[in-house]
Amino acid sequence: MFDKVLIANRGEIALRIQRACKELGIATVAVHSTADADAMHVKLADESVCIGPPPASDSYLNIPRLLAACEITGADAVHPGYGFLSENARFAEILEEHNITFIGPTSEHIRIMGDKIAAKETAKRLGIPVVPGSDGGVSSEAEAMKVAEAMGFPVLVKAAAGGGGRGMKVAMTAAELPLSLSTARTEAKAAFGDDAVYIEKYLTKPRHIEIQVFGDGQGNAIHLGERDCSLQRRHQKVWEEAPSPALNEAARARIGDVVANAMRELKYRGAGTVEFLYEDGEFYFIEMNTRLQVEHPVTEAITGIDLVLEQIRVASGSQLSLTQDDITFAGHAIECRINAENPRTFRPSPGQITYWHPPGGLGVRVDSGVYQGYRIPPYYDSLIGKLIVHGKTRNECLMRLKRALSEFVIDGIETTIPLFNELIRQPDIANGLYDIHWLEKFLGKP
Ligand code: ADP
Repeated sequence: MFDKVLIANRGEIALRIQRACKELGIATVAVHSTADADAMHVKLADESVCIGPPPASDSYLNIPRLLAACEITGADAVHPGYGFLSENARFAEILEEHNITFIGPTSEHIRIMGDKIAAKETAKRLGIPVVPGSDGGVSSEAEAMKVAEAMGFPVLVKAAAGGGGRGMKVAMTAAELPLSLSTARTEAKAAFGDDAVYIEKYLTKPRHIEIQVFGDGQGNAIHLGERDCSLQRRHQKVWEEAPSPALNEAARARIGDVVANAMRELKYRGAGTVEFLYEDGEFYFIEMNTRLQVEHPVTEAITGIDLVLEQIRVASGSQLSLTQDDITFAGHAIECRINAENPRTFRPSPGQITYWHPPGGLGVRVDSGVYQGYRIPPYYDSLIGKLIVHGKTRNECLMRLKRALSEFVIDGIETTIPLFNELIRQPDIANGLYDIHWLEKFLGKP
């Protein structure tokens, strides 16, 4: 097992990883920018290293500085969390070259899945059903038009290097396609430095259902069921739950088996998420994330498995301690992403938290990196915490969520809590009847 893990991240996820390390008796190193000197993940770590000024490119994304921090502290492994360098194959490679373990999959798997065109081809080869679309990238407008017309409109132009919902443009008709194509390309070039795009059938009423997988790189792999992340705004998840209100046991077992078999064949190592759109009883692969997800706690709640602890165990060379038969699902869990934003306009609301009272009680978990008096810096994403509730049934879970939200007090900044208070009162939410467009339609209403 590792002696010391450096956590190359900030905020709630840095703290989440620290907790797992501490329970394994591993020393922790926090890194931080000058803007995060007072952050909770810094205060609670065994050691901390300042790695640069506020811009992420000069700190959390700066590989030489992170390497230096490893060197200075003698860390023997790095956990990248999510975002930042978590899906940077080069970072994983460089660490291995320095004999520091990257807690995650091989750089080869990160690279394949980071290119959505290669990822889709790999998924297809492994027997995973994919969204109909172009065979690889499209290089010209004429080619795009040919593919789209053969498939029928609407279509979606997507960036091969895409992430965070960027570089994605819908074309409802042939007339819209040229503009969608050029906008997606420009956006992708600006965000990822790569303007390769491909075309997919635009599904009009799917749910976003993703399967949590886990492998040990030695040919053992399991799935830990699904999460339903259909409540989205601008292709970004807002609320996640497990199990999905739309799946029955047979559908879950069917897709779970397909995915676990594929991961076995790939000899995948560590935690991963295979994302699907689900419409009319069919699953369509969209992408795979080769890292821990923001919404992993809902899976932890219904399986009782600490995913970060397993990540660390497997990265240290242990075999998977669980078989598929060991995985059972108990109850229902929902996560709400608490952002420092206006709950209607979603304008970021950084500033000082003058009062902080998180909810508690049975089945309530709050993962957050903030505290009373903490000043939220304006440089990073606006997630300040996650409220995760667990109940025996979905209904119990909803009642508990309502109760927990009513206890949550955050003063000094605006948060998305009022949005969740509204959502739990909607009959469609109570009945689990929502697709990926539901939230935007709801927000569009006066
Ligand atoms: P990113 O990596 O940018 O998050 P994804 O491929 O994971 O992009 O897609 C994000 C979201 O965009 C999905 O959850 C879904 O809401 C929407 N989306 C993606 N592909 C399609 C599609 N073919 N049809 C309809 N919606 C889609």
